[in-house]
Amino acid sequence: MNLASLSAIDSNIFLYPAYCGVFIMKVIQPLYNRLNDLLQLFYPPICLGCQTIIELQSELSVLCENCLHNLKRVPDNYIREEVIRRLNPCYLDNIVTIFEFDQTVQILIHEIKYRKAKKLAYRLAAYAYEQIHIAVPWQNGDLVIPVPLFRIREKERGFNQSSAIARGFFLDSNFSLQTQIILRARPTLSQTELKRDERMKNVHEAFTVLQPELIRNKNIVLVDDVVTTGATLNECARVLKDTGVAKVWGLTLAAPTKPL
Ligand SMILES: [Zn+2]
Repeated sequence: MNLASLSAIDSNIFLYPAYCGVFIMKVIQPLYNRLNDLLQLFYPPICLGCQTIIELQSELSVLCENCLHNLKRVPDNYIREEVIRRLNPCYLDNIVTIFEFDQTVQILIHEIKYRKAKKLAYRLAAYAYEQIHIAVPWQNGDLVIPVPLFRIREKERGFNQSSAIARGFFLDSNFSLQTQIILRARPTLSQTELKRDERMKNVHEAFTVLQPELIRNKNIVLVDDVVTTGATLNECARVLKDTGVAKVWGLTLAAPTKPL
């Protein structure tokens, strides 16, 4: 084989990805679009919020424009008065939460958790973060830690919704997402059906910090889907501060605005 034929092979190798790209653009994509149009004709997308056919898709795709714009922000003083003030002691420097946990948000979070809707988690979190990013205390370079699930629960669910939400929140930034720093060391009951005191007991000493040397003197944003009493975030913050973390802020997608 001479040098000329070698270089011809080499250049073909480099051209294959380009050929594939053109093939996908010219053939596969139009076919996919046509198929999608047909499917939408027979199975039009239904809004998860109001159950009507979505005429104009919002950026969240599973909600109509109306339901998306009707998502309500949590009142500014609610978290301070009803969550932080009632945690005693409180290890969190602040909690930022975005939407009221109304019926629509409840359906969206249920969809994320139990139907493995990872993309919806990214999109909802990215949309939510646009609503608050000016008012946050953290800075690029701080660490982002999603509240961990117990490993068996994560395996059953297929992913940790808090990690997916955290990725959506910090999609376009230089925050470092850390999923191996804190571990849920024992299984805990779902907090949903528990009263305030039971929630505190349920998560007490449930978390362990695996790599304290990586977080000493750092500022941390702890991400969860929903904050109700703040028991889970506060317990994570307690073990993080025990290892020498400087500040811990909670960040969640939603909060029910009826105190427990
Ligand atoms: Zn709707």
